[in-house]
Amino acid sequence: MDRPAVTKARHAGRRSAPTARRHYARRQLPARSEREGAVTSGGQPGPDPDWRCRDQLGETGGMPQAQLTLMLIHAHPDDEVMGTGGVIHHYAMEGVSTVLVTCTGGELGDGPGGVKPGQPGHDEVRVRMMRRDELAASCAVLGVAHLETLGYLDSGMEGWPQNHRPGSLAGTPLATELPKVLELVDRYRPQVVVSYDERGGYGHPDHIRAHQLALAAAEQSGIPAKVYYTAMPKSLVRTAMTAAREAGVDLSDLPQIDFDPDNPPFGVDDHLITTRVDVSADVSAKLEALRCHASQMDNAFMLNLPEAAVASFFGTEHFIRALDRSGAGIPESDLFAGLR
Ligand SMILES: [Zn+2]
Repeated sequence: MDRPAVTKARHAGRRSAPTARRHYARRQLPARSEREGAVTSGGQPGPDPDWRCRDQLGETGGMPQAQLTLMLIHAHPDDEVMGTGGVIHHYAMEGVSTVLVTCTGGELGDGPGGVKPGQPGHDEVRVRMMRRDELAASCAVLGVAHLETLGYLDSGMEGWPQNHRPGSLAGTPLATELPKVLELVDRYRPQVVVSYDERGGYGHPDHIRAHQLALAAAEQSGIPAKVYYTAMPKSLVRTAMTAAREAGVDLSDLPQIDFDPDNPPFGVDDHLITTRVDVSADVSAKLEALRCHASQMDNAFMLNLPEAAVASFFGTEHFIRALDRSGAGIPESDLFAGLR
């Protein structure tokens, strides 16, 4: 078998109790033959082609409930936090199985001490190892049940010379990468997949490729019932930035920060948002996960926002529903609406 190479790490995080509980509960199920009274000829259990479906039956108050699975396809370590850290934690606490696919090692992020790519002392191998550890810590905080890293190289920001280097996510043909993602979708069978819009949120080549992979895998496999794009409504950008400025938070490190607050250059028009999930109970976990990525200081200003701005900026996560086979109406407040 020409099985795609996918490295895998399971995380039994300190705050992933729901996942552990679910697995425990599953182990407590009686053997299949006892549940169904099934006896095959000769008393030997035969192969069961339908076993995967049976295995996804959990037990809630004696009523079977299909195992729900949320898969997130992100480009770099730390991308899981800002737009989706809340829903990861929220659904993990509900007992949903959470799968994070991180496509690159984030080698072109900041190095130790904030050293930037191209500056003396920036060592991509060191950065990758550091960010791998940060990602593992973040996954433990958020309750990620399965972390899958595809191992591509960071392609750098739009226009960087590394955009097309061999082994980079953006510089590798989509057709070469897609089987890896299809294999993961087939293995985990998520009902919901989350990634970025066709601009990759803000134009990063790796985010655009993650979007292409997620959408192609969902369409070709036919497995996910819903695909969402992360989204930041412009109204929220305005509110948060205004609050930050009024509170005297230093935003000077942010690129593109000197913008017209009535027309921010990032974010999406509010009317495009289909789905708002209340993650106010998950804000502290999200902030803790953000702190796990301590080497990437571009987001550090978030940690210094005034309390009210933190609540508004982090307490709701916004999505655009891009594919739907559930028939659930919009607007909606649950990624699994129509699937429970
Ligand atoms: Zn990224």
